[in-house]
Parts: sequence; structure tokens; C-alpha cells
Amino acid sequence: MQPDLNLRDQILQRACPTVMVPRFEKLELLQEPGHRYLTASDGLWIEIMRPWLHLVLPVALQSVVAMPYGLLEPTVAFSFKTIPYELFRNFVDDARLALPNEFAAWFTWNSRNHQFAYRPISATSASRAYLSFERPVLDDDEHLVVDIHSHASMKAFFSSEDNRDDAGEVKLSVVVGHLGEGQKMQSKLRLCANGLKIPAADIDLLSNLEIGGHNSTIEETVSFR
Ligand SMILES: [Zn+2]
Repeated sequence: MQPDLNLRDQILQRACPTVMVPRFEKLELLQEPGHRYLTASDGLWIEIMRPWLHLVLPVALQSVVAMPYGLLEPTVAFSFKTIPYELFRNFVDDARLALPNEFAAWFTWNSRNHQFAYRPISATSASRAYLSFERPVLDDDEHLVVDIHSHASMKAFFSSEDNRDDAGEVKLSVVVGHLGEGQKMQSKLRLCANGLKIPAADIDLLSNLEIGGHNSTIEETVSFR
């Protein structure tokens, strides 16, 4: 950091530095929750650390300029092996009760006892296509992992509104649709990471996650490969 740098940039760069990836030894991983940028030989990467997640993924890759740095492996590692099935079942039950309106909930993970919790979100206003809500207040050890909402009887897709809500957050985002009478429920899941949106199918650990099927066809356990 340049010595005469103004205070605001000093604070920003300390909170979120860019680090050169060593070519001849292993990069030391982030130890504390936060994120930083990594300059590797093939471009710019981001590293994010949360109590429940460690992620290293490319942000902007290039092969034109030879940069004298090391290589990185894409990493998405979770602190848990499964998300309890009951949480999804609770959500689907509540979302059906809320019909014809949308419904939303958080699944949180406690880094002290490693337990998940279901937190339905109290809506300040809800309709068939719109939901505004208050963010739950979490304990110090409790972390938002899954942000799930329903599209009532409409199909499951990430709307431009969803994209705005998900921007800049680190969480799994799930939308469940076709919840109406006689409809076949469907869902979409993605990992949001400071603006990156990674479809579940692209992540080994998430590609198995099934929240589909009507009535009894939801899998008994929602497990990661
Ligand atoms: Zn939505």
C-alpha cells in the first residue's frame, strides 16, 4: 500500500486487498470471514470466506498477457454435508398456505452447534408476483445460507427483481414455482457470491440437490454428493 494513501482508500484496501498468487509456493488461504481478489497467471479471481463456505472462483480470465504468478483451482467448499429435508418441506407447506401470494424464508446455519434453522420471513406486503419483507435479525453465530422464495403458481425462474435482490450477497438462492393445485412443483437453485451467480448444476456439491416433485416425490434427504 502506498504510504501517503488517503484514509478511505487505506480502509478499503485493508478490508478487501488484491493479492498476488505465489508461483513457487502455496497461497495461504483467507483465515477470517471476508473476501479478497487474487491475481493469478490467468487473470483475476475472487476468494470468499464465510463460516459455512470457502470459495475461490475466476472473475476475469485472460491468456493474452503472461503474468508471473501462480495458478489457482476453482473451489466451492461447504462446512456441511447436507441441508435437512424438513426445511424444504416446511417451506413448501408454508408457501402452499400462502397461496395465491408469494412466500419467502431463510435457512440459517449456526457455526457454534452446526445446526440449521428455518426462519419464515414476515412479509410487509405480499402479492402474486411481489414480496417485500424485513430481513430476519440473526444471532452472532447464525448465518444466512439459503434464501428461498416461492413464485406461487407461476414457474420457477430468477426474475430481474431476484437478480437485484441477490446481487452482492453470499448465499444459496432458491426459487420454487408451480405450487398451485394440480401443478408439478419446480425449483431453481444457484449460488450467489458477491455478484457471481453459479447454477447448481455447475457445482458438484449442489448438482444433486432436488427440491422437485409434487406431494410425496420430494426426496427424503437433500444431500450433497
Ligand atoms: Zn422470484
